[in-house]
Amino acid sequence: MKRVEAPNVVAILPGRDPKLRDEYVVFSAHWDHFGIGAPDKKGDTIYNGALDNATGVASVLEIARVLSSLPAPEKPRRSILFLITTAEEQGLLGSEWYSQHPVAPIGKTATDINLDSMNILGPTRDFVPLGAERSSLKAVVEAIARERGLRISPDPRPEQGSF
Ligand SMILES: [Zn+2]
Repeated sequence: MKRVEAPNVVAILPGRDPKLRDEYVVFSAHWDHFGIGAPDKKGDTIYNGALDNATGVASVLEIARVLSSLPAPEKPRRSILFLITTAEEQGLLGSEWYSQHPVAPIGKTATDINLDSMNILGPTRDFVPLGAERSSLKAVVEAIARERGLRISPDPRPEQGSF
């Protein structure tokens, strides 16, 4: 086994509301994939990570771009923390390190919306918000689904414990 160092990447957009600025909403995604390894059926040894998880990283970057370019009165009330973690595929190592060395206090972190393997198939009629039912985000997710005419589907593989 080769030992390497790989960074997490963090950026913060300060909240506009002084009463809520010390609370954080995290948008996260992992930037690593599996690299080069044993060949697949076609002999390809490169494990492409375009879906898992360049799509998640691109989504976090786009959310950061949009939120930071809003006019001041429309910027989020809470601070937004953009977290791109490393070594997810090796066992959530970057996330674990962040949880032990948080940039924002964990007790002041309202939620983490983690983006992994985004939809690349085109328009959809349903989606699976993993873990939303375990927090107050469930009502928000349901309201947005209604507004957009989307159906919320249950976790298709709950035995995997993805949340
Ligand atoms: Zn992933």
